[in-house]
Amino acid sequence: MSELKPGLPERLEAVRIQLAAALREAGRKEDAARLIAVSKTFPVSACEAAWNLGVRDFGENYVQEGVEKIRHFKAVHPDDPGVWHFIGPLQSNKTKLVAEHFDWMHSLDRLKVAKRLSEQRPAAMPPLNVLIEVNVDGEASKSGVAPDEVAELAVEIVRLPGLKLRGLMTIPAKREDEEEKHRPFRELRTLFERLQTAIPDLDTLSMGMSADMTEAVSEGATMVRVGSAIFGPRDYPNK
Ligand SMILES: *Cc1c(COP(=O)(O)O)cnc(C)c1O
Repeated sequence: MSELKPGLPERLEAVRIQLAAALREAGRKEDAARLIAVSKTFPVSACEAAWNLGVRDFGENYVQEGVEKIRHFKAVHPDDPGVWHFIGPLQSNKTKLVAEHFDWMHSLDRLKVAKRLSEQRPAAMPPLNVLIEVNVDGEASKSGVAPDEVAELAVEIVRLPGLKLRGLMTIPAKREDEEEKHRPFRELRTLFERLQTAIPDLDTLSMGMSADMTEAVSEGATMVRVGSAIFGPRDYPNK
């Protein structure tokens, strides 16, 4: 677990100001992009602290850890448990927990996983909102589908009753140059707009993290996934 350092209210406020400024500069509405607080590796008490500051969207990378937090919030805040986004890589043997607990899944990149999530989504819950993760940089080490394979996967996902395809997500390679940071986001947006002509109800572009949220918002992000800028540094990057 990472330790939550003092200063959460100030860090959160700074991120909210940065997001509002990015939207304003881009000429977009002030509520055009949702802030997802990425709470992975932080204890549920950190999520509670953020919840008390008005955060309702949480992003989690590890299935078990996320489910524990969701269970806590459903028990403690049954009328307002927040919206839970699974954003990490998902093995097909762990789909059931995501289907049964999460509201959103940002990192869908295989039909096999999509089919399992759809079958395992409980009938009493609304369809799971899903985004296709796109590997815009073509990095061999990264998850996500190649840009030219997105349309084919999208058409299959739209047919699955337990899922609601909402849009696309990406995690670009790290870049230092500000102009360069725009490029992968612009590519994802172009892909998104092309896909919208076939599937008009797509409405979500999940892109931008602590280091590049401003660039992502200027290219049309409707969700930014921000972790360290809100919660502080993580003690361990991975389990
Ligand atoms: C960890 C993570 C984030 C948040 O990263 P920060 O750099 O801490 O803002 C966003 N998206 C995904 C998919 C992540 O795994």
